[in-house]
Amino acid sequence: HGMSERIQKSIQNMEEEQKKLNLAINKLSLLDQQQKQFIGNVTHEFKTPLTSIKAYVDLLEMYPDDLELLEKAKADIKSETQRLYEMVEKVLQLSAMEKYDFEYNKEKLEIGQVIEGVINSLRGKIEKFGIELETDLKETYVEADKDSLAIILVNLLDNAIKYNHTRGYIHVKNYQKDNQVVVEIANTGMGIPEEAAQRIFEPFFTVDRNRSREKGGTGLGLSLVKRTVEGQGGSIALVKSDSKSTVFSVILPSVKTVE
Ligand code: ADP
Repeated sequence: HGMSERIQKSIQNMEEEQKKLNLAINKLSLLDQQQKQFIGNVTHEFKTPLTSIKAYVDLLEMYPDDLELLEKAKADIKSETQRLYEMVEKVLQLSAMEKYDFEYNKEKLEIGQVIEGVINSLRGKIEKFGIELETDLKETYVEADKDSLAIILVNLLDNAIKYNHTRGYIHVKNYQKDNQVVVEIANTGMGIPEEAAQRIFEPFFTVDRNRSREKGGTGLGLSLVKRTVEGQGGSIALVKSDSKSTVFSVILPSVKTVE
């Protein structure tokens, strides 16, 4: 009797293992599918600006004396190459994080200072659009990778500028909450429609393709931000978005000031 019970038990164990294995296989094939889709998207997204650049080159060859065409070509080629450049950079950053032995260079950082540095690097852009920037920065410490923090903040602030209206505002604040540090970025602008809100962190998702293209968007910014934040052991959320303002909040594990 004891024997058959043992056999019963090991059959049960085997079935459990089989189930786990099936789940793992499903997960792997889903990852594989996502990767293939990602590569397909990248190729497609790269092709669009390249096609437009090529068309201009062909036209310029046909009409070498058309000054108006030349001016238009210069402006469009410049913005398309800039977009291509940004896409390449983001795809490289995303794929670097995919490496199995990828490691973050984590150190103790004062977030307020990092935010100030990033804001200064974007000062020209902020002024260009007449955007009013208000900050409420506190001394808070996180254990994070410096380059990653820059990627997170640059992308979020860049969106806050891009999707704002002229003479709108951006509010940036950070504060300590229990053993976490919260960074909140709020901006005026057209907002993100509710049905799109759940998809904005997906690679290549843009709320309005034309709006995003016009602004030099790639649809990769927020997916890169999300992965980078999660790599620091943190999380990101769209707190609210309506016709008045859009608020993103980044939560990072904090480090105590006194050790
Ligand atoms: P993109 O490179 O197109 O800006 P993102 O991944 O950074 O791509 O953002 C995805 C979409 O979310 C954008 O197309 C934009 O419509 C919307 N979005 C992102 N940030 C903001 C913001 N601060 N205010 C309004 N809309 C935003």
